Amino acid sequence: MIIALKKGIRREEQDHLISWLESYGVRIHLSEGEYQTVVGLVGDTTRIDTDLISGLDIVESVTRISEPFKKANRKFHPEDSVIRITEAVAFGKGEFQLIAGPCSVESEAQVETIARAVKKSGAGVLRGGAFKPRTSPYDFQGLHEEGIRILTEVRKRVGLPIITEIMDIGHLPYFQDVDIIQVGARNMQNFELLKELGKTDKPILLKRGLANTIKELLMSAEYIMSGGNERVILCERGIRTYETYTRNTLDLSAVAVLHELSHLPVVVDPSHATGAARYVRPMALAAAACGADGLMIEVHNDPPHALCDGPQSLTPEQFDEVASAVRRVREAL
Ligand code: PEP
Ligand code: MN
Repeated sequence: MIIALKKGIRREEQDHLISWLESYGVRIHLSEGEYQTVVGLVGDTTRIDTDLISGLDIVESVTRISEPFKKANRKFHPEDSVIRITEAVAFGKGEFQLIAGPCSVESEAQVETIARAVKKSGAGVLRGGAFKPRTSPYDFQGLHEEGIRILTEVRKRVGLPIITEIMDIGHLPYFQDVDIIQVGARNMQNFELLKELGKTDKPILLKRGLANTIKELLMSAEYIMSGGNERVILCERGIRTYETYTRNTLDLSAVAVLHELSHLPVVVDPSHATGAARYVRPMALAAAACGADGLMIEVHNDPPHALCDGPQSLTPEQFDEVASAVRRVREAL
């Protein structure tokens, strides 16, 4: 249930309403926007009389929310959320970021070379997988905590915040110094992991599962947010369809739908969506054009020899060109 309050009401009146609502055992989520203050109620609201509340002279309107996602719902928070990573880097409400870097951390020299290049091209966040979810157990599994140590070292020298994927909640202590924790497509519905991440204060980039609906993605965001961590960034990275020319099928309509349904920022990953470097540019431009709040692009200094996802990785030179084309698209909007 959401209660929109009238403008210009007194603080005591608002506080009084909230404590009365809390006496029903519901949790309150207050969104104080520039234009409207909205009181969101999470929990069992069946005993609350909506007519009684609508009748109060400080209340503009009362709406029952039919969607199962509440905190992620735009009705709860009408304005776009801004997820701030550092003073200079944020996602949402017009703040756009390029996240770039290798699929996997391979060595300190590799990450540093790529980080310096992508920063010059305008990237705001450095990516690199340390714990890799690979289809085959015989493939490179990542450098694990050593990979995270390399990312934090490179951050010190290059000055870009870092994002890396968590696969097991037992690894959380290694992520204490990471700027954004990524939940990969394969773990989007690892609910125990989501619940634990909900207890942290780290920004979480939540990727859509290979075969998950938009609603399921929002429900997974809800798992994190209901635990108290509302710093969630959604990521469309392509879904499984019958098509085989691309690794996945990029569902760009998800960007428009997610922006309608939710206030959370939406990032698009054209690298995993297409699986081929030559398709990354057109899909990156399309994503920017349809209003994505950021792009996550895999960049490797030597794609043919990458230990993971070489065929979809751009060289730093290609990334530089794509980054400036994305800027032109955004300026044209
Ligand atoms: C990744 O970003 O490296 C990755 C494994 O992505 P996804 O979870 O989308 O497959
Ligand atoms: Mn990858």
